[in-house]
Amino acid sequence: MTTAHSGTDMQSFPCYLVANWKMSLSTRQSLELATALMHEASMMPIPDDLHTWIAPSFLAIPDIARKVAGTRFRVGGQNLWPEQHGAYTGEVSPTQLKEMGATFVIVGHSERRSLVHEGEELIRRKVKSAITNGLACILCIGETRDERKAGKTLAVLRSQITSAVLGLSPHEVRSLLIAYEPVWAIGTGEVATTEQIAEAHTTISTIVAELTTARCPVLYGGSLKPENAPEILALPSVHGGLIGGASLQSGSYFELVRAGLAGM
Ligand code: PEP
Repeated sequence: MTTAHSGTDMQSFPCYLVANWKMSLSTRQSLELATALMHEASMMPIPDDLHTWIAPSFLAIPDIARKVAGTRFRVGGQNLWPEQHGAYTGEVSPTQLKEMGATFVIVGHSERRSLVHEGEELIRRKVKSAITNGLACILCIGETRDERKAGKTLAVLRSQITSAVLGLSPHEVRSLLIAYEPVWAIGTGEVATTEQIAEAHTTISTIVAELTTARCPVLYGGSLKPENAPEILALPSVHGGLIGGASLQSGSYFELVRAGLAGM
């Protein structure tokens, strides 16, 4: 099992800056961006407790994994199927991800929940399968704009966490990270306030502890950018970020790395 953290009560977590490249780049462009990231990293040593993770498209994983081998960067998938093999046309298993060089996977991103109607039961199976098959798992949760307006944010978070972590042992929670991503802030340029983020993150940590007796890092995602990152990444309840748009250029990604370092 790839444990991403120690999950104990007493420790503060490292900082994770996870680049989600979505379907934005060709394989060639992905390699170019990885090369630029390696170049930036060579000029700025990254301490052990700051984790730089990249989730390119499935197709680019093998090339990027080879490119970053021996560096502090880790490569992961943006999705997986919970079964190991079988008649699942178009899907990718945890073992296939690992064969390609992935060490983590993103599960339950709001784009998958809305575009392909991924439901809570499938997300729960994906989380369990990722972890039991040795991948660190970043579970994405978050409320829609309507849910926030209706005052349902904390209830939505509780329900999404409860169904996703059902059946995880405290030891398995050591491979879990949660990304709080308000749906209305993803790719919109609109960012949650520090009060909204602190409230959501504290609630998420409390719910995970209640349900599993363990803790996991909670990352923020949703229009995280060099301009807002210093304030957000400095919040004690924020253990890093899941980054879409701002991860597509090495310069802006490394500004987030610097903000992450300053916030540690
Ligand atoms: C995301 O896709 O997870 C995300 C947070 O995107 P963006 O940073 O572009 O809002």
